[in-house]
Amino acid sequence: LFIIGGLIGLLVFFVINTYAKHQLSLHSLIIKGIGRKEFIPYYQPIINVKNNKMYGCEVLVRWWFNKKELISPDEFIPYAESNGLIIHITDILLEKTLAQLSSLDWNKSSGIISINLVPEQLENKLHMRKAVDLIIKSSISPKLIAFEITERMSFTDLNKAAAVIDYLKAQGINVKLDDAGTGYGSFSYIQHLKLQSLKIDKMFVDTIGTFDHRLSVLDSIIAFGKKSGMEMIAEGVETKEQSEYLLNNGVYLQQGYYFSEPLKFEQFHDYYKQDQVN
Ligand code: C2E
Ligand code: CA
Ligand code: CA
Ligand code: CA
Repeated sequence: LFIIGGLIGLLVFFVINTYAKHQLSLHSLIIKGIGRKEFIPYYQPIINVKNNKMYGCEVLVRWWFNKKELISPDEFIPYAESNGLIIHITDILLEKTLAQLSSLDWNKSSGIISINLVPEQLENKLHMRKAVDLIIKSSISPKLIAFEITERMSFTDLNKAAAVIDYLKAQGINVKLDDAGTGYGSFSYIQHLKLQSLKIDKMFVDTIGTFDHRLSVLDSIIAFGKKSGMEMIAEGVETKEQSEYLLNNGVYLQQGYYFSEPLKFEQFHDYYKQDQVN
C-alpha cells in the first residue's frame, strides 16, 4: 500500500511538475481549477451499525485536474488551507453537493451531509453566511447539513468561532469536532464551542487489537464522549474487529473502508438507492 501510495504521489508530483515547467505553480493551478470548477465531491457513507442503515455521508473533495487526473486532497488541501484558497474550493464543493444530492430527493430519512472546514473558514463570517445562503436556497434542509471542523489546526479567536457556531446552530446546522484527539485541544474546544458531536480519528481506530499505547487514548475519548452525552462517529474503520470493538463500547456510528470507500456521485447514487430499499 505504501508503495502504491508512493507511486501515486510520484505520478501526481510528475503531472504537477510537468505543468510547473510551463511556469505554472501549484498556486496558479489551483486558481485555474477554481475558475474551471474542477473540484468535485466524493461521498463516503457513514453507517449506523445498530440497524445497518446509512446515518449520512461525508463529502470529500477530489480535484478533476485538467479533465484527466483525479487528485486526492492530501496533494492540495494543505496548501489551499494555508492561503485561503480553500474557501473557494468549499464554495464550489458545497454548490455541487447540494445540486447532486437534491437530485436524489435528499430528505430527513436520507441522513446527515457532513462537510469539512478548517477553523479559519468557520471564523470567516462572510464565508459562512454565503454557505448558509446556498443551503437555504437549495431543496435540502439545513438540519441535514453538518460542518466538520478539524482540530489539526488551531482557532485564532475562540469567541468569534463560538458566535459563528451559534449562528449556524440557529439555522439548524450542526457542527462536529473532526480528528478528535490529534490536535490542539479537543476538550477545550468542545467546552468553549459547546460542540455535541465528535469524530474519532483513524489514528486511534487503528490501535484496536494492537498493543499500541494509544488504545488507552481511544478508550479515554470514548469515555469522555459518553460522559458528556456526545454523538460519536468513528472514522477509518477497516475491519470487523474494529467495528465490533467500537460498537461494544457504544460507538455505533462508523465510517471506513469496511463499509465503503468514498464514492463518486454515480456510485453513491446506487449505494443510496440500495440503502433506501433495505
Ligand atoms: P478526514 O476529514 O479525516 O477524512 C477522512 C479521510 O480518511 C478521507 O481521506 C477518507 O477517504 C479516508 N478514509 C476513510 N475511511 C478510511 C479507511 O477505512 N481507511 C483509510 N486508510 N482511509 C480512510 P481523503 O478523502 O483523502 O481526505 C483526506 C483529508 O483531506 C480529510 O481527512 C480532510 O482533512 C481533508 N479534506 C477532504 N476534503 C476536504 C474539504 O472539502 N475541505 C477541507 N478543508 N478538507 C478536506
Ligand atoms: Ca472529516
Ligand atoms: Ca476526520
Ligand atoms: Ca482523520
